[in-house]
Order: sequence, then structure tokens, then C-alpha cells
Amino acid sequence: MKFVALFGPPGCGKGTQAARLKDALSVPHVSTGDMFRDHKARQTELGVKVQQLLDAGQLVPDSITDAMVRERLGREDVATGVLLDGYPRNVSQADELLTILSDLGKELSAVVAIDVPGDVVRARLAKRADEQGRGDDKDPETVNNRLVVYEEHTAPCVPHLESKGVTVHHIDGVGSVDEITSRILGALGIS
Ligand code: AMP
Repeated sequence: MKFVALFGPPGCGKGTQAARLKDALSVPHVSTGDMFRDHKARQTELGVKVQQLLDAGQLVPDSITDAMVRERLGREDVATGVLLDGYPRNVSQADELLTILSDLGKELSAVVAIDVPGDVVRARLAKRADEQGRGDDKDPETVNNRLVVYEEHTAPCVPHLESKGVTVHHIDGVGSVDEITSRILGALGIS
């Protein structure tokens, strides 16, 4: 069973690494950010509800996010594994993830935390805003919000999950995309 959660500050290259990692693990990639952006683009009831929070770089309430993830993790395609990207985002969601998996008779196999200094991620986010035109990369206040939210709410999930017995792999996120991928695969014992 391969249930892996990927952590890293915005701009650390998490999306790029997730795309490679899900292939290496042969599991679906579940990104709560992608799910919310998809709802927003389709202007579903959920999309309309969360769009202002997304645009401001603020977290969607746990009740909404947890329910969306519980539904997603109950589907057949993730019965033997998943690469989670962007969830959990705070300690309460981390506990909820353990509960959801345990309710499904599964457990979290590992956490991969990509560590990158703040000044490096700010520079990368500015570049991504130019290249991809992603709305929440453009406004400096939104970028700053997302970094602060990561430090205050998301980063503490890693030691929290470790304290619950989950294996945590800290990966140095400074280097080329290929270097970081091979560090992650090496840590997970995949070659
Ligand atoms: P991401 O693509 O992971 O950077 O997520 C983009 C945005 O979606 C975030 O800034 C939040 O507004 C929202 N979001 C994504 N995942 C979560 C989560 N687990 N909990 C709350 N909000 C989330």
C-alpha cells in the first residue's frame, strides 16, 4: 500500500515533483488545490463558495475540505494508494486524514516534506506567476499569505504526523528538478 502525503511551501516545486512521483509510485495524484480550482472553473456550488478564499490564498474551512477528501479517498482508483498533495494543510486535517484512512482500513505509509528556504520560494513564485499566470501567484499579498499560512498551519503537520508514528522523509528542495526527484525516490526506496 502506497499512501503518501507530500508537503512543501508554495513554490517549492511540489506540483512538479508530485507529477513525477505519482508515476514512480503508480498511484493517482490527488491535489486539493487542483480539485478546488476545478470547482471554481466550473462554477459549481462549492466553487462559488471557495473562490474568494482561493484568490486570497486563505484556507478553505476544514469541514468543506475534509468532506471533499473523504469522498475522494473512498473511490476505487485510490484503493491501493494515493499521492496526496496539498492535504493535510493543518493539524486538524492531519488528524482527520489518519481517521479517514483508518476508517477505510488503510494507513499513511509516509510523508515527504520538501524543505526550501523562504527567499528561494518567493523568487520561484514570482517566476511561476510570469510563466503560468496563476491568479494566486500574482498578487504579492496573496503570495505572502500563502507562505505565512504554510509556516503557521501546514508545516506543523509534519512533526505532528511523525509523533503519531508516521514515517517522515525530509528532502532538501534546493537543486535541479531531477536532483530533487532522485532524492525523493531514494528516500522512498524506489529506483
Ligand atoms: P494549492 O494548489 O495546494 O497551493 O492550493 C491552492 C488553494 O486551495 C490554497 O491556497 C487554499 O485556498 C485552497 N486549498 C488547497 N488545499 C487545501 C486544504 N487542504 N485546506 C484548505 N484549503 C486548501
